[in-house]
Amino acid sequence: MSLHPRPIDPIPEATARVARQAFPKGNRYILLRDELGTIYTDVEFAPLFSVHGQSALSPWRLALICVMQFLEDLTDRQAADAVRSRIDWKYLLSLDLGDPGFDFSVLSEFRNRIIAGHLEQRLLDQLLEQCKQKGWIKERGKQRTDSTHVLAAIRTLNRLESIGETLRAALNAVATVEPEWLKGWVSSAWFERYGRPVEEYRLPKGKEARQTYAETIGADGMDLLEQVWSEAAPPYLREIPAVDHLRQTWIGQFWVDNGHLRLRDAKDLPPVGKRSNSPYDPEARYGNKRSTTWTGYKVHLTETCDADAMHLVTHVITSTANVPDIEQTEPIHQALKAKRLLPREHLVDAGYVDTGLFMTSRKTDGIELMGPMRPNGSWQAKEADAYDLSQFHINWNTKKVTCPQGKKSKSWTPTKDAWGNAVIYVKFSRTHCRLCQYRTHCTRCATEPRSLTLRPKAAHQLLHSMRHQQKTLEWQQQYHQRAGVEGTLSQGIECFGLRRTRYIGLAKTHLQHVLTGIAMNITRITSWLTGIPHVHTRISRFATLADDSSLCSVPNLL
Ligand code: SF4
Repeated sequence: MSLHPRPIDPIPEATARVARQAFPKGNRYILLRDELGTIYTDVEFAPLFSVHGQSALSPWRLALICVMQFLEDLTDRQAADAVRSRIDWKYLLSLDLGDPGFDFSVLSEFRNRIIAGHLEQRLLDQLLEQCKQKGWIKERGKQRTDSTHVLAAIRTLNRLESIGETLRAALNAVATVEPEWLKGWVSSAWFERYGRPVEEYRLPKGKEARQTYAETIGADGMDLLEQVWSEAAPPYLREIPAVDHLRQTWIGQFWVDNGHLRLRDAKDLPPVGKRSNSPYDPEARYGNKRSTTWTGYKVHLTETCDADAMHLVTHVITSTANVPDIEQTEPIHQALKAKRLLPREHLVDAGYVDTGLFMTSRKTDGIELMGPMRPNGSWQAKEADAYDLSQFHINWNTKKVTCPQGKKSKSWTPTKDAWGNAVIYVKFSRTHCRLCQYRTHCTRCATEPRSLTLRPKAAHQLLHSMRHQQKTLEWQQQYHQRAGVEGTLSQGIECFGLRRTRYIGLAKTHLQHVLTGIAMNITRITSWLTGIPHVHTRISRFATLADDSSLCSVPNLL
């Protein structure tokens, strides 16, 4: 990526003079403009705009305004007001003192253009490129990643509310464009059922009554779909997103039994990843992490974390809430590679690692993926005198495993597990195990002999050596630095509204997260330039009294 010539628009003399008088010691926008110029130029946004005519406000200014909006957690109206009234904003944007600004709706339109042109990441990458040139970040340092949940901007609905609201949303959409057509056939009972939001306190109580009510809604929805697909209906009604969402929801929620529409049992519903909770944000999904459940999205922040260097967000990924963290490890590495910001060490939690990723990251990109391998979860590993995998001796050449009682395995079968990973299924002799006096230490199955599921040799040996390594003090001290990313997520949530999406849909939510990442970087750059040190983890007075030094060790956070 080549850098644009900077600055592109000089700061008007009067603006510069008044800004210096108003902020004799400078402020973050003045510092940013003096240090990095305008960051963006119109060249980056050229594909988004018509070659004819001239935009009311330069795209580079709009991009910066979007970032400043997230820096201060402002609405579009407040941001447009700040452009008109704030001298430090005018300084950064190179605007005249009397510049009239723009209508706030321009910002929404600009965000749509950014999304349509897939330029979200470029906004962050452009800033990172300049940071690289300044020597503030470099390739092959340390980076860390973690994720947090993001709540969708919708009311969370139970299943019955969700079905009712899906039909209500479709009716509202059709009533907006074809009111007379709808009025011509709709039943008067529907106005009672769908005239107001479908809310739990108005719904029937009791399992049977609710089932009947759900099937009534189902039959009404089918009526609407049949009417929309009839020859008398305007064909474009089938293209309305709310109608299509109704059609898809009905396929997932109902089935036809001898001509009657029935509500599916919970066990017959589509998987969570394919099921929408609300028609008002159909892309939001149900998520579950430890004891936290939510509807919406998940954001993954990756940042540099070298000691005594600036800690900057290098990559932002947004996914729906149901996507597991481990699916993002590879895309993060690919994105960092494209930015020429691959780390030497990548610190992550257990959700981002497995032996396959550990090996491919090291081999393909030279990255040491540092994260705790999941412990052996078998009951044998949890009981002191039981025989877990570590007590069996594996001879990879002869393809035989010897148990703690000296018996050799009977079969060795390479196969695939439920997730398609290569594994080896090892089984012992039924006769040996039946006669074994230590059987209760080995298996709880009354009829079958002991069996083991092994990974291929390289993965097996790596897993065991890593589990061993992770118990060492040296590894734990090295890994301790990962904890700082929790502070980064906390900063995003507390200062930049990361916990709740402002917008509807994955694409706009992702843009919000990228802008938040840039805002966090700008805060960190200006803090660094003004000598504000990294914040350390706060330890309570009580915790400092503990003898356990691990409670008192303080990693750098920001
Ligand atoms: S139960 Fe079978 S595999 Fe287990 S120790 Fe006894 S003989 Fe070995």
